[in-house]
Amino acid sequence: MSPNFKKFNNCKLCNSKNLIEVLNLADLPIGDKYMPEEKVDLAKEAYELRIMMCQDCNHYQNSGYVDPDLIYGFYLSRPATTNPDLAEAFKEYADYIVKNFSNKKQNLFAVEAGSNNGIFIQYMKEKLNIKVLGVEPSNLYEHAIKNKVDTIKDYFNSNVAETILNDYGQTDFLIANHTFSNIIDNIDFLKGVKTLLKDDGVFCMQTFYQKTVVEKNLLENFTHEHLSYFYVKPLKSFFEKNGMELFDVKFVPAKAGSIRCFVQKKNGPHKVLQSVKEFIDDEIKFGMDDFNRHKTIKLFINETKDKIHDFISPLIKDGKKIAAYGTSTGATTFSFNYELGKSLSFFVDDDEFRHGLLSPFYKIPVVSSKKIKAEKPGAIIILAPLYADNIIKKNKDYLSDGGKFIKFWPKFEVVSN
Ligand SMILES: [Zn+2]
Repeated sequence: MSPNFKKFNNCKLCNSKNLIEVLNLADLPIGDKYMPEEKVDLAKEAYELRIMMCQDCNHYQNSGYVDPDLIYGFYLSRPATTNPDLAEAFKEYADYIVKNFSNKKQNLFAVEAGSNNGIFIQYMKEKLNIKVLGVEPSNLYEHAIKNKVDTIKDYFNSNVAETILNDYGQTDFLIANHTFSNIIDNIDFLKGVKTLLKDDGVFCMQTFYQKTVVEKNLLENFTHEHLSYFYVKPLKSFFEKNGMELFDVKFVPAKAGSIRCFVQKKNGPHKVLQSVKEFIDDEIKFGMDDFNRHKTIKLFINETKDKIHDFISPLIKDGKKIAAYGTSTGATTFSFNYELGKSLSFFVDDDEFRHGLLSPFYKIPVVSSKKIKAEKPGAIIILAPLYADNIIKKNKDYLSDGGKFIKFWPKFEVVSN
């Protein structure tokens, strides 16, 4: 095994050693490691991606983790900046938090763990007049600083929380947007949350929802960045065990299905709402605590892989190029599980940050959509399934020129004129 990959021996939420494998996916390089030519060797390794379930608290997690400095050292993903829907949803979310949990207090302070380029707390600062501080380990923190969003370059943990406490004092809100799933030591992270939160403060944690992932075959969520796959039942007991209380859960459409968990210190001011019980009842009914529940995902992968290859093999034989649209972490999960690496001539992406870079492992070039006309690929496989319709709409000319888009979600479909 690579020295850059370490195994988890325990459940990340309850520490149990009773872990059982529920899904064995293709080995992958770090999904977002699109690199310039001179650095491409940093992304040459592939690591196992096996999903384990804890037989005690029923939490799902990866079998191990890749050195986080390798993942976040050169990081490209700025979801809220490149996706206007997400940016809009974040504004509503910030408004909701302040409206519901500020108790009409003045001089509010919010800390965001994993603040990315600072877009969420920048809104809180500029539009809601709140003092903010971001904590972000990746190079994206420079964007936050440039936008005058106070940010510490680090991973959020209990030590960093102590430092913030000394320098800034306690916080009214601790925000974690799609961060908590990426944390190696969730117990230590939560210790940091407890240290920093005021007694009436709220930990607002948004994460993709594993029940939706299983229900809708959202394969793109299985990556080396996501170490945990959350749903409400194991989270509720995790918070309880660590002196916190989950008092409300909301489902939001972000990333095809996410949840917002609102958590306070034990004996905090908020009443525990019925939503918590409703989510858990629904999860048990669906079978989230059944270790066989993830088998449908493996079936979906195998069927999809066969359909894609049945379609592209004759095109390749005819000498046609095959391209893929989208280069997110999830795109890497798709291309490896569908075994596309050797079939692709190039990737297309709308994010200009990525143009000219090479894909991890197979070193396939990333180009702008303007190149499609000259390259005339026989088919373009859409690796950003949630945005497929937008991508097709934006590239109508390719279809008029006789091109074909391959969609594989929610089911396999070839789009042509
Ligand atoms: Zn557990």
